[in-house]
Amino acid sequence: MDAIHDHDGPEVRIFHRPAGWVLPDYTDLADCTTNYHRAQDGRPACTGIAVWKVVEDHGMHLTIGFYCDADLPAEHQPATTPAV
Ligand SMILES: [Zn+2]
Repeated sequence: MDAIHDHDGPEVRIFHRPAGWVLPDYTDLADCTTNYHRAQDGRPACTGIAVWKVVEDHGMHLTIGFYCDADLPAEHQPATTPAV
């Protein structure tokens, strides 16, 4: 019987760019994705540079998030931070 490869979650790819990520229309740098939740909670917006881009491949669609160092979700923290 053939095993079906069943992933526990989406395939996640994480990219780091020290200067931040430019939006697709090149107008500005991407804001920290947590700003969406911060606004909902009435918290001040994140002032950090969103240096991390997290792409989750759900098969049918991608979700992309941008995070500053402080807001990168723990599950996306690299196991080791390679020296650049
Ligand atoms: Zn942030």
